[in-house]
Amino acid sequence: MDYDEYRQRGKEMVDYIADYLEGIRKRRVYPSVKPGYMKSLLPDHAPEEGEDWDSIFRDVERVIMPGITHWQSPQMHAYFPALNSPPSLLGDMLADAIGCLGFTWASSPACTELETIVMDWLGKMLGLPDAFLHNPSSGSSGAREVRGGGVIQTTASESTFVALLAARTQVIRRVQEQYPEMEDGEINSLLVAYGSDQAHSSVEKAGLIGLVKMHFLTCDEELCLRGEELQKAIDSDRQEGFIPFFLCATLGTTGACAFDKLTELGPICEQEGLWMHIDAAYAGTAFVCPEYRCYTEGIEYADSFAFNPSKWMMVHFDCTALWLKNSGALHRTFNVQPLYLKHENSGAAIDYMHWQIPLSKRFRALKLWFVIRSFGITGLQKHVREGVRLAGMFEGLVKADPYFEVPAKRILGLVVFRLKGENHLTEALLKRLNTGGKVHMVPASLRGQYVIRFTVTSRFTTDADIAGDWNIIRSVAYEILQEQER
Ligand code: PLP
Repeated sequence: MDYDEYRQRGKEMVDYIADYLEGIRKRRVYPSVKPGYMKSLLPDHAPEEGEDWDSIFRDVERVIMPGITHWQSPQMHAYFPALNSPPSLLGDMLADAIGCLGFTWASSPACTELETIVMDWLGKMLGLPDAFLHNPSSGSSGAREVRGGGVIQTTASESTFVALLAARTQVIRRVQEQYPEMEDGEINSLLVAYGSDQAHSSVEKAGLIGLVKMHFLTCDEELCLRGEELQKAIDSDRQEGFIPFFLCATLGTTGACAFDKLTELGPICEQEGLWMHIDAAYAGTAFVCPEYRCYTEGIEYADSFAFNPSKWMMVHFDCTALWLKNSGALHRTFNVQPLYLKHENSGAAIDYMHWQIPLSKRFRALKLWFVIRSFGITGLQKHVREGVRLAGMFEGLVKADPYFEVPAKRILGLVVFRLKGENHLTEALLKRLNTGGKVHMVPASLRGQYVIRFTVTSRFTTDADIAGDWNIIRSVAYEILQEQER
């Protein structure tokens, strides 16, 4: 394909994408294909000669679309959102075309510089403490002993893991100052990290691959982790000779979007020398609105904080914003200095390769920058508030129906609900709804109760969508209840 054809095909592709997104309601949100469906649609070997674009592109509707779950659809209520938006798509179009890798400042200075500036913008938009910023507004950055700042990671999972590794490096050094004869491995075997029983599975995964024990602590009746529970666990682990070193607190849990009590957990972490990481993968976007910042109270105790603009903020995957108060802890964890990566500004400029696991880095800051500028803070606030309003509308409909219940408090755009009675009723309901393919949701287990998670995900959702989806859910539920009575 030469660039003349690329110009034409590119314009056709943009039209196809705009039609796809504008017409997404016409598509069944959840596909009806069976595992292996694609095998019979494609040859089992690659073409010997290059094919013309028309025949390649025809296969998008024939082969790909039948197996797509349409995440941008208003009828998509599963998981948390993974939204895109035109400025975000344009950002990646340009970033992919530039195709630079930003592992050091010198490998593409604009890539690093835009990331530091946009991460400061974003930090300020969320009301993060100055200590997390590269260049605090107070202008205190020059005098700071430890440098804070933000970096874009691929996922919230990776951010938790990166924070755990930095905390591990820090605690191993601290212990060795007191006991220089102790080897890294010996200290590692004594480490213990904490999360709540509502923490995302990626927290468990971070412990598994970091080779540290993870203890999952019981939440209160509102599904929040409280200080008393953490203190008890630390005391008991210390008595057994373990070294508590890390807590992953969650703001907006996956099951029910509950918020851990940072004001209780933070002071304990500070006193006991634990690194507090905050995983706000979904809920972080809501902190653009001042009225939700009450849930970040205590954030000043955190060592690191991460959320996914790739969920609710319409910056499409991948894009996770991670801030640290002390970037030195990351440097010590990831610092390797082969000669070919050295440059005349090494040490003076930020080299993001020291802030992440991979060497290479995509120019993700571009799509983040485009989205923030295009929507503005006000536009992003409006988007969040609309999602929350629609979730409130759905919650009202559920609560008004005597056969249903909402077993956990709703705060943002996620409503958990179930049919009153035994779990198998709600399980049957969800199974039938997903098989029908008109709405798509996933379950969660909250203290043994099977619940359906209904998240308002799409940018296109209207009141009529919520009312229509509720009608589908209610009528399938009534079918199930009637079958039970027979
Ligand atoms: N943490 C929380 C609270 C989540 O809800 C999720 C996913 O929904 C994750 C972490 C994992 O996110 P990622 O796919 O970015 O690793």
